[in-house]
Amino acid sequence: MDITKLTGIGEKRAQALRAVGLNTVFDLINYFPRDYDDRSQIKTVEELIPGVVNTIRGVLASAPDNINPPRKRTNGRPLTITKAVLNDTTGKLEMVWFNQPYLKKYFRTGQEYIFTGRVKLDFKNHLQMESPDYEPCSETLLSGGRIVPVYTTPKGFSQKTFRALIYQALDACSGLDVGVSSPFYDNLPYCIRQANQLCDRKAALYNIHYPESNQAFMAARQRLVFEELFFMQMALFTLKGANAETPGIMLCDININTFVNGLPFMPTAAQLRVLHDIASDFKSGMRMNRLIQGDVGSGKTAVAMAAAYMAITNGYQAAIMAPTDVLAQQHYKDFCHNFRQYGIETVLLTGALTASARRETLAKIASDPKIMIVGTHALIQPGVEYARLGLVITDEQHRFGVNQRFMLSKKGLENAPHTLVMTATPIPRTLALILYGDLDISVIDELPPGRQAIKTYCVDSHYRGRVHDFIRKEADAGRQAYIICPAIEDTATENETIHNETISNETIRNVQDYTRELSAAMHGLTIASLHGKMKPAEKQQIMDDFKAGKTHALVSTTVIEVGVHVANANLIIIENAERFGLSQLHQLRGRVGRGTAQAYCVLITDAKSKITKARMKAMTDTTDGFKLAELDLAQRGAGDFFGTRQHGLPDFTIANLYTDIEILKKAQAAAHAAYKGEIVLSDEESKMLAMNVGLSPVL
Ligand code: ADP
Ligand code: MG
Repeated sequence: MDITKLTGIGEKRAQALRAVGLNTVFDLINYFPRDYDDRSQIKTVEELIPGVVNTIRGVLASAPDNINPPRKRTNGRPLTITKAVLNDTTGKLEMVWFNQPYLKKYFRTGQEYIFTGRVKLDFKNHLQMESPDYEPCSETLLSGGRIVPVYTTPKGFSQKTFRALIYQALDACSGLDVGVSSPFYDNLPYCIRQANQLCDRKAALYNIHYPESNQAFMAARQRLVFEELFFMQMALFTLKGANAETPGIMLCDININTFVNGLPFMPTAAQLRVLHDIASDFKSGMRMNRLIQGDVGSGKTAVAMAAAYMAITNGYQAAIMAPTDVLAQQHYKDFCHNFRQYGIETVLLTGALTASARRETLAKIASDPKIMIVGTHALIQPGVEYARLGLVITDEQHRFGVNQRFMLSKKGLENAPHTLVMTATPIPRTLALILYGDLDISVIDELPPGRQAIKTYCVDSHYRGRVHDFIRKEADAGRQAYIICPAIEDTATENETIHNETISNETIRNVQDYTRELSAAMHGLTIASLHGKMKPAEKQQIMDDFKAGKTHALVSTTVIEVGVHVANANLIIIENAERFGLSQLHQLRGRVGRGTAQAYCVLITDAKSKITKARMKAMTDTTDGFKLAELDLAQRGAGDFFGTRQHGLPDFTIANLYTDIEILKKAQAAAHAAYKGEIVLSDEESKMLAMNVGLSPVL
């Protein structure tokens, strides 16, 4: 039903509604309040509390009056004050409105109204209510005497008119038949509602707009959040269905010990546990789809290596895809180094190869069934043929989109390779469930022994000189430092607002100027710089030099963020720390603390906003990546987190991934059961389900 069918909606208002995507009556019903105002406590005159908003019910005692006080004007026009007096059994209350002369004609003496407004004491010490909301008690109460919805109103609508419009829409739909096309028709199967104690759709929609009580609101919200998450999960299962629980390559000859004995260290208990998870996946005959979550430095590479070792010794290729050239190079060296002892060959495929090297590598990948393949996105480009891909590993998964993850496993489609997905950035469980709903999750929740907590400090730029002295001190002791700047070069940018605070572009540090300044200030020290605009070979040379200890300090952008490992670097300085997300700061900090020396992280910021301060405090207080990730999610919202939009997740109408985790779990379990056909449905319910899944923004 089109919105113009509603009373009071002419072309102009319809346009304003359409501008925010409200085209039909159904759209209105699904346009949920952004907040609520509890006006259900009705007070008497005696009970009114000055200084706060009160709701009162009473009879208009006298005809309202308009006054134009001399000399008082608003916007050049004379000021009109409308006064009226309300009576209840306990006393009288004066009410005033400004510049609404038409109210004089609106109110009827002797009629009962509900008013909500701030109460104050006037100069004669009499109570007065200022510009209250009003509503005659003879009509359905929408703005007072109840819990009142607050909407983000379209242009030209007051809360009051918009509330009335929504109510009208609800009413109009109530009048429609209850068939499938009604918005009140329940799209959740009865047994799912029953099992999860969810109210029906009609009650939910009424109570989300006009809650009868707090409990009714909670029940309505619960139901609608469940519904939203349920259909999203169903859609995700459908989307990923091809991948989940399909038969896979059975790897029979699994011996973890041989590999472990070849490592230069003892694996941690957490690493071993994950290795056993992987081994049992390999032996199961089903395809492995596993996510390994582990904080920076927890030793995911060794686990990946062990998995690759198992695949290769069983006669298959294993491939690991890294998000950057620098990281791919590092993996290449690590794998070569370790696999040499078993006579396993490792090849590297990145965009940086020369044409002839690339040809040679591609030929090898297409023909040798027992090699280790390390690379970047280059691994999933067309033209890369794999001889016998049995295991694909994606490192630092959050840097890739969902699609890229699938692309690599599709490369070995005929034999459905096992997949292992690794992420160093701890993903809050809520998001992991959604982004990786099709994956089993293993967590490495333990760091290798001997690691010291990284000492973290936050200072303002006045301390920069002293921080630089610290670089020299550590350099003199034979150690190295990273300095992170948000920009590469000095470019004119607009001032930005960060956490409600406008920050001058002048304060943004850039790699080029910083390197120059630091080199000038630090005689005798070698300072290098690294950023994303450099050629891969150049980046590699700089990283190699830094790793070899030839450079004392490396000024870099966040290209250094993922995975890079230089044990001798024990100091990281992050300039303009206010510009980075908490998870990102944590990632950056994880570049140090990989050796035995005490490691330090210094955050430099001149930002003063409360949020920035809280974030910096969180960084100095905790080194727990999961805690920081949760906080980041709470502060920035799921939309920003790792750019979930890029992962194809929709914005939610009502669900809040941060607070609704319990509902998410239930919705996911129900969706899983429904997807697997474990729930008995009527034909009609099945149809309804399929239709709603089809409507999901995920698909
Ligand atoms: P991340 O999980 O961040 O990818 P890495 O795999 O890069 O961590 O491991 C970080 C460092 O810790 C590497 O130098 C690695 O050799 C070392 N390492 C991994 N596991 C252990 C262990 N069990 N004992 C000691 N050192 C380990
Ligand atoms: Mg890593």
